Amino acid sequence: MADAERNTQSGDEFAMTLAKSPPLRDLAYLKWQRTQRCLICGRKGDDQMSVVAAHIGTAGRGLKSSDSETMPLCDDDHRRAHTWGEIGFLRNNIPNTILREMIRAWCRMNYEIWKGEG
Ligand SMILES: [Zn+2]
Repeated sequence: MADAERNTQSGDEFAMTLAKSPPLRDLAYLKWQRTQRCLICGRKGDDQMSVVAAHIGTAGRGLKSSDSETMPLCDDDHRRAHTWGEIGFLRNNIPNTILREMIRAWCRMNYEIWKGEG
């Protein structure tokens, strides 16, 4: 492909690419996520509070998103994410260190797409 024809995906195009894949299911991964610290507040589950594997958005057609598109959230932050809306909640609460790594991963993926390997 000529350099002039190469292009990176816009955010909307990227979201559409992901939506085309059937949702992945992996109960073992969800179970492991429940043993992790909450992505937002860092707490681990105990007798008073649990950590859940929170799915991001939906996969369309009314399906829950892939189990690989989950993050560990404590009950309190999971409830806040649903009450406030997950994107607004994450935008205001996700730690900067995590946000930086997410953007770094998106940049790497976009580079691979640009190279024709994505
Ligand atoms: Zn939390």
